[in-house]
Amino acid sequence: AEIDALLSSHISEHPDFPIPGVLFRDITPLLRDPVALRTVIRHWATLLPEGVEYLVGTEARGFVLGAPLAYEIGAGFIPVRKAGKLPGAPAGLTYDLEYGSARIEIPQDSFPAGARVLLVDDLLATGGTAAATLELTRRFDVEVLGATFLIELAALRGRDRLAGTALSTVWRIE
Ligand code: 5GP
Repeated sequence: AEIDALLSSHISEHPDFPIPGVLFRDITPLLRDPVALRTVIRHWATLLPEGVEYLVGTEARGFVLGAPLAYEIGAGFIPVRKAGKLPGAPAGLTYDLEYGSARIEIPQDSFPAGARVLLVDDLLATGGTAAATLELTRRFDVEVLGATFLIELAALRGRDRLAGTALSTVWRIE
């Protein structure tokens, strides 16, 4: 309850951004408050499964929150990037969006065999981004322990879309 209050006072709401009809949650007030940021990351760490070796974070807010969370639990951090940002020959996946498509990429040599990994992002909405990221991650020889999000927009049913994956969320908004 304390964490919920901290989050609701540090995450602002913006109607009709980036498109009409969407209520966007902005985490930048949380990022700029040193005490709130540390409190939230430390609390979030207590919700994660045991034995996570790598957090797999989605560009861009999954990086900002995923890196300190990985540091807090003593795990490594693997960036999932938008197409064209990684050198070499990264592993990639193209997936459908409501309009058009997007491509995500992971460095080919990211994981040792059998690595225990957890997906991290700032927010779970429809679950499309997380589903694509999980699909790409599962192409590697890894054990996916689940996925974790700071915010869950429950009405958008991302949880249903990710059925079969263990989820933890810090702040569930109905
Ligand atoms: P989904 O694919 O689950 O529909 O959308 C989740 C992805 O979009 C996440 O990568 C998240 O960063 C971004 N996203 C969607 N809506 C919001 C929002 O209201 N606030 C923030 N911070 N990110 C959002």
